[in-house]
Amino acid sequence: MSINPSGWKPEMGADETAEVVTFTGNRALMLEEPLLFEYSDFGDTGVDFPPAPVVAPRLGGLDRNRPIGLPGLSEPQAVRHYTRLSRQNYAIDLGLFPLGSCTMKHNPRLNEKMARLPGFGDIHPLAPVSTVQGAFELIDLVGTWLKTLTGMKAVAMSPKAGAHGELCGLLAIRSALEARGDARSVVLVPESAHGTNPATAAFCGYVVENIPATAEGRVDLEALKARLGPDIACMMITNPNTCGLFERDMIAISEAVHAAGALVYCDGANFNAIVGRVRPGDLGIDAMHINLHKTFSTPHGGGGPGSGPVVFSEALAPFAPLPFVEQQSDGSFILVEEETAGDYHAQSFGRMAAFHGQMGMFVRAAAYMLSHGADGLRQVAEDAVLNANYILRRLDDVLDAPFGKSGPCMHEALFSDDGFPEGFSTIDVAKGLIDEGFHPMTMYFPLVVHGAMLIEPTETEGKAGIDQFIGALRSVAERARAGDVSLKAAPHFAPRRRLDETLAARKPVLAWKEPVQAEAAE
Ligand SMILES: *Cc1c(COP(=O)(O)O)cnc(C)c1O
Repeated sequence: MSINPSGWKPEMGADETAEVVTFTGNRALMLEEPLLFEYSDFGDTGVDFPPAPVVAPRLGGLDRNRPIGLPGLSEPQAVRHYTRLSRQNYAIDLGLFPLGSCTMKHNPRLNEKMARLPGFGDIHPLAPVSTVQGAFELIDLVGTWLKTLTGMKAVAMSPKAGAHGELCGLLAIRSALEARGDARSVVLVPESAHGTNPATAAFCGYVVENIPATAEGRVDLEALKARLGPDIACMMITNPNTCGLFERDMIAISEAVHAAGALVYCDGANFNAIVGRVRPGDLGIDAMHINLHKTFSTPHGGGGPGSGPVVFSEALAPFAPLPFVEQQSDGSFILVEEETAGDYHAQSFGRMAAFHGQMGMFVRAAAYMLSHGADGLRQVAEDAVLNANYILRRLDDVLDAPFGKSGPCMHEALFSDDGFPEGFSTIDVAKGLIDEGFHPMTMYFPLVVHGAMLIEPTETEGKAGIDQFIGALRSVAERARAGDVSLKAAPHFAPRRRLDETLAARKPVLAWKEPVQAEAAE
């Protein structure tokens, strides 16, 4: 079979390479790769199976009675397919990944080595507790560090991502309010919140209301106070917020929320900026998730595994989910479950997951914490903030920094497309950055800023790398400001030219070709 069965030919820009079209569609080491469904051999297989025995139907008529049209591939085809695709991917191991809010930091290889130790990697969640004491000790160690770093009373390790942690926190808050006979109906969320915040509140059955931001990019305390009342269950707040600013009024916000009988949920996805410097427990927060896959390294993105432990204040601790690991007075570890939970935990709202959570993420987080130590973790926050401020100040003459006058930013620098000529927007800058060999920054988020560009270098980037990124972004921003039309056609050098993103979203072509042969074989 041919390597390029769909006959795809690279679309060339109006440059001097326009005439050069290769037979394969490949451009030197940039290899074209069709979809699996475009490999035309549905009969191929990497393994020789004996013919299936004929058996009587046993599924009450649900039996599959025709081929399902999955492409057949030999082993080399499968390996090459994914290897070729992986070469077209951008990754943190290739370069700076400036996605704001995502905290895409380098994941030390030590973490990977530890996570793959058979004693951690090969254990089963149903293994007898006496045989996995070391794993329990590690879960307890990470939990203890999270409680220490946040100054909070309890921790739930089982939530599997930030959004899952938000759900865990809000379920605990709802249980606490219901336990006092005061179920409330409204959750307040700042305008700049990450989309998971209102989504979580709505999923829990709450009405979501926005609290506006001040001109300097922080929660409007007076607007919040004006809205607080007996129907408010909780305020969900992100600190540092998604504009990259520390919410300086946090204690006053918590006091006002508590005075109104409501609870404070903190979205702790940005903990990277304050770890070792600020303890959210001292700011009056009742529940906060921590994205282990952001603050404590661990590769993420592309749907890769995450982990979102939630820390709780004294008021919410009894409502935290089960099961959890607890150390006994003899030093051994037990699992506190529904049957073994004492009166204190009888109010637990239930389970977030079948078992303990993401063991591999716990091991990576533990390796990261232990290798940094207390002073190292504090330096993480300091370096992340320093790097972001360096970017903010080196670029604010070519890009509008809407909150540049609100003081230093935290771990991410926020720019807008203000000042671009008609027809130019953030997307053009993003596509220009691809030509420069960088993954684009977060675009059009937070929504409170027009054409937002949210840039987070993290602490793992050194000055030379950041200077190169700044140089690239300056150049692209200057082209945008000058109305350089070539930028509108970027990327010029990527495996694909600019896509019609609206068409791709509205009319996705999920399989290029109907599996005709599979039907015919029926
Ligand atoms: C990443 C992020 C989330 C969601 O976390 P996931 O682990 O992706 O579910 C929520 N809020 C903010 C501010 C984030 O950056």
